[in-house]
Amino acid sequence: MDFALSPRALEFRERLQTFVRDVIEPGTPVYVAQVHDSGNEHFHPPVMEDMKAEAKARGLWNLFLPDEEDGAGLTNLEYAPLCEIMGRNPLTAEATNCAAPDTGNMEVLHLFGTPLQQEQFLRPLLDGTTRSCFAMTEPWVASSDATNISSRIIRDGDHYVVNAHKWWTSGAASARCTFAILMGVSDPDADPHHRHSMILVPLDTPGVSVERSLPVFGRSHGGGHCETLFQDVRVPAEYLLGEEGSGFAIAQARLGPGRIHHCMRAIGMAERALELMCARAQMRVAFGKHLADNAAVQQQIAESRIEIEQARLLTMKASWLMDTVGVKGARFEISAIKVVAARLATTVIDRAIQMYGAAGLSDDWPLADMYAHARTLHFVDGPDEVHLMQIARRELRAYEDFRV
Ligand SMILES: Cc1cc2nc3c(=O)[nH]c(=O)nc-3n(C[C@H](O)[C@H](O)[C@H](O)COP(=O)(O)OP(=O)(O)OC[C@H]3O[C@@H](n4cnc5c(N)ncnc54)[C@H](O)[C@@H]3O)c2cc1C
Repeated sequence: MDFALSPRALEFRERLQTFVRDVIEPGTPVYVAQVHDSGNEHFHPPVMEDMKAEAKARGLWNLFLPDEEDGAGLTNLEYAPLCEIMGRNPLTAEATNCAAPDTGNMEVLHLFGTPLQQEQFLRPLLDGTTRSCFAMTEPWVASSDATNISSRIIRDGDHYVVNAHKWWTSGAASARCTFAILMGVSDPDADPHHRHSMILVPLDTPGVSVERSLPVFGRSHGGGHCETLFQDVRVPAEYLLGEEGSGFAIAQARLGPGRIHHCMRAIGMAERALELMCARAQMRVAFGKHLADNAAVQQQIAESRIEIEQARLLTMKASWLMDTVGVKGARFEISAIKVVAARLATTVIDRAIQMYGAAGLSDDWPLADMYAHARTLHFVDGPDEVHLMQIARRELRAYEDFRV
């Protein structure tokens, strides 16, 4: 394994760091004020468009896409350190057009889209003029098992008719979100892995409604996480992605790189929490000594550093495997890092919150927000237990003969 950063990755890292320092950091309070003044938590503030224009001008655009023409042509291993930088401030991913769920949707359209789908849906996303959402999870079935998804996509002449009740459809509350990639059953009689299809649904189609946005620990940002209804929605047949019955396979392909991106950003969040923790430990004095001079505090700092290094190495390994043997060959490492990165982020951020005293729970520091986001990582792209199940199954397979 060779995790050394290429000269190209080093150069991108340098440029992205400068962009964060010069554009994102000064733009963040402006962003917060513009959203606040609009009175709408899902408002898209003009400063984001300024930041995007600047990112484009600096060649920091679509960095996630390995394609040379539409993206930066970086490998997963090269992209990893950039994602880590993005994890430190959540606005960076959107400003560089590297934010979920668009990245996963762009990858799907890039891999499986027809020329018409790419022109109509992918191109505006690549240009950053629209946003999109991914509608898979449903309130009435355990959606961590994708074979349970029960929405219907039924062929009717040259259209499909979609009936679906979805929730946690991230991004759908944004006025800029124009379409969903939706998963539903197209053939209930097929085997469980070939029952589903994915289809592109423009959100202005009659029958589509965004019912509400679900807050996370009372917090609601950006495009929200929405409960969405699709009632007798008629969509042209050419909006079906891939073949009928390929929904499960597309879901698998979509989640590989996306999971890794979340993990890399989680490591960036943990790094930032550790920095805040160390600064606090040096500044705050209790019982006649600096917090940093307590063995218990030193231990928390050291444990955090060790855990971050471990998680980073595992992420690099998973990225390197994706680059060398593909998503399928890296699936156990992807599952492992998905669990490890979520745990890392919640643990390190929680320690930092504790070190800030009650202030850590307030919005005077970014820690409460970071914790709320890190906690969601134990669910998004599959709950921890499902990944643990997959890893355990592989381990146990070699011992099947022992079963009595
Ligand atoms: C902030 C956020 C954003 C999201 N964005 C999107 C989005 O954009 N689009 C979308 O479609 N979905 C999205 N989701 C939904 C997410 O993907 C699902 O919540 C996740 O897949 C789990 O499905 P579920 O909530 O139905 O949980 P369930 O499937 O009901 O599972 C509940 C719990 O059961 C346990 N469990 C499940 N399987 C096992 C097992 N094999 N062994 C032991 N325990 C098990 C786990 O603890 C699990 O958390 C988002 C979720 C969050 C929190």
